[in-house]
Amino acid sequence: MNLKFEYRRYHLPFRVPIRTARGQWLVREGFILRLESEDGLVGWGEIAPITDFGSESLEAAQSACVSLGTFVSVEALEGIDPNLVCLRSGFRAAVQEIYRLKAVAKSEINTAKLTQIPESLSVAALLPAAVPALGIAPFKVEQGFRTFKWKVGVLNPLDEIAILDDLLAVLPTGSRLRLDANGAWDQRTLERWLKVCADRPIEFIEQPLEKNYRGMQDILLNIQNDYPTAIALDESLCHAHDVSFWSNLGWKGVYVIKPSLFADPYHVVDQLSHLNARVVFSSALETAVGARTALHLAFRWAGEPLALGFGVWPLFEDALFDGPIAYPFLMRKDVERINPEALWTALN
Ligand code: MG
Repeated sequence: MNLKFEYRRYHLPFRVPIRTARGQWLVREGFILRLESEDGLVGWGEIAPITDFGSESLEAAQSACVSLGTFVSVEALEGIDPNLVCLRSGFRAAVQEIYRLKAVAKSEINTAKLTQIPESLSVAALLPAAVPALGIAPFKVEQGFRTFKWKVGVLNPLDEIAILDDLLAVLPTGSRLRLDANGAWDQRTLERWLKVCADRPIEFIEQPLEKNYRGMQDILLNIQNDYPTAIALDESLCHAHDVSFWSNLGWKGVYVIKPSLFADPYHVVDQLSHLNARVVFSSALETAVGARTALHLAFRWAGEPLALGFGVWPLFEDALFDGPIAYPFLMRKDVERINPEALWTALN
């Protein structure tokens, strides 16, 4: 299959700067890509690298786009450098869309399977770190959220543990709270928290130890059997081989995955499905084009539907690039309504 290939670069200021370990992140940069088949079918993809997550740089993605030229074959796309993970992810999504449109045209889509796709998925509400969470949580409760994610590892553990019960007190019965440490803890802190969480409604603790923490694999593999609260990996899962690595080790915890950062997100999701893994689909702060691919996978996930990590919108100064705003459910019809063409046109 020969495809016409075009791409446009975007430079999108965030509404509110994103706080990262390296400081303030002000502008999201990446590319929207468009593939068109000889019979006029169009597939869309996005290249949204985050180098801190092990993806290629913008420049590396751009020079690969330049060298591909205006017409590409599916075989040529398969030959792209495996290190260009976001580029591959974008192409994979666009090619997949064209295949899907071809199948629709030939009525090869299994409609019985489509009826199993949920109409909506719940979204986790993001709470700010430390005491401000107590002020924001009631508003999120009012909006209908029942899964919450609180950033921890910002204050010292004793102060944060003291806030935890105040926070749980403002959440309705049946709520679930995720704690995201973003790798800020050490082993002792993790154990202290696991003891505290054991009799509280904590859904999981996300990335307690930094991904290069010494002995991390053994620590987490042992600890996951000692306490009832699940542990989730996020920053540790940069590449498809990280997923294989942890599953081969016997990881029973949660996998937080950002499909935009995997060279072949469809393959990774298949792999996790065969493992009956617990999976959270999460935003890579991409535009609605990349989010559409990720959410498409999330809606087709046959395992336990854990609340999505897509409570990020409104994200950009230019709201056109945002995905559907989640209050507190993401509707499938809103995902299907995402119109990549509109974003494409705006980038002209
Ligand atoms: Mg996280």
